[in-house]
Amino acid sequence: MSRKRVLVTGGAGFIGSHLCEELLRRGCEVICLDNFFTGRKENVAHLMDNPYFEIIRHDIINPIDVEIDEIYNLACPASPVHYQYNPVKTINTNVVGASNMLELAKRSNAKILQASTSEVYGDPKVHPQVEGYWGNVNPIGIRSCYDEGKRCAETLFFDYHRQYGVDIRVIRIFNTYGPRMLENDGRVVSNFVVQALRGQDITIYGTGEQTRSFCFVSDLVRGMIAMMEGNIHGPVNFGNPREMTIKEIAEMVLELTGSKSKLIYQPLPQDDPCKRKPDITRAKTELGWQPEVVLEEGLKQTIEYFRSTIEY
Ligand code: NAD
Ligand code: UDP
Repeated sequence: MSRKRVLVTGGAGFIGSHLCEELLRRGCEVICLDNFFTGRKENVAHLMDNPYFEIIRHDIINPIDVEIDEIYNLACPASPVHYQYNPVKTINTNVVGASNMLELAKRSNAKILQASTSEVYGDPKVHPQVEGYWGNVNPIGIRSCYDEGKRCAETLFFDYHRQYGVDIRVIRIFNTYGPRMLENDGRVVSNFVVQALRGQDITIYGTGEQTRSFCFVSDLVRGMIAMMEGNIHGPVNFGNPREMTIKEIAEMVLELTGSKSKLIYQPLPQDDPCKRKPDITRAKTELGWQPEVVLEEGLKQTIEYFRSTIEY
């Protein structure tokens, strides 16, 4: 049987590189497409010797033609610092980029999965967040280029499905962490771990009482592939339902690193959601998926990664 040929956009990024690795491990031929805005060649350098792996430098806001069976559309900066750096580009990546990838799926009769986000729920009024909740999103704030961009991409996916019969998958990813996050991308886990290892102050934004729920990257990747292989279109939440305050995360990082860093408090960014926790009933019952890696274990692996890669 010939190998499935899979396109991973954003494949040189944090999640994308783990996904490429796992798809290769499962016997797929993988094409990693990336414009290297937040992605790095180092993330996939160890895959370059594999004859079934190739890299294309390309920006998804431009159309592309390749022969493929499946597309995982991950291309989009995910951390607030990076998606707010060029907000117009971010929304174009989400909307024009998604449209280009959907056209490609339509032309090549490929299945296509969209990496959407818990940000589609905004600052949620329903807790935990279920897929049927439509969200509470500011359409004109500093996070909107990402949140509304991802919402519009979901709309495009469902319209391509209804109008052209494209075989879509939409997943809503909740905060995910692990090795290969960028040390300077401003997300909470990478910030706290790097600060703790360097003995710098741990920067808590706001009171630290806001909550998030953190999923280890290997759990997410397993879920993404289960979604592609299953036969539901979604949307389906993927995340770890263990909810914690940001202050609790800071304390856990201090304990696991043995750091003496101090906690300091800085202003809360605009539109920062107060709470977030996935309801994963749908993923559990319809795909048999649930996370397995406990936070302490995932953090240890992440700490080891940063310990061996950052400069002190
Ligand atoms: P990341 O920034 O590490 O990866 C994004 C990748 O996309 C990078 O390699 C980047 O260079 C590439 N990229 C960006 N714009 C592009 C463009 N126009 N054309 C081609 N490539 C482009 O982020 P990540 O955490 O790996 O996130 C991957 C996907 O998962 C994103 O779509 C993100 O929105 C989604 N997501 C992530 C999280 C999370 O917690 N990490 C949560 C929700 C959703
Ligand atoms: N955060 C923080 N200190 C940091 C980075 C982030 O307190 O150094 C907070 C941030 O304000 C938010 C939470 O941690 O409440 C998660 O932030 P992140 O940017 O990782 O993800 P998102 O806000 O997109 O969920």
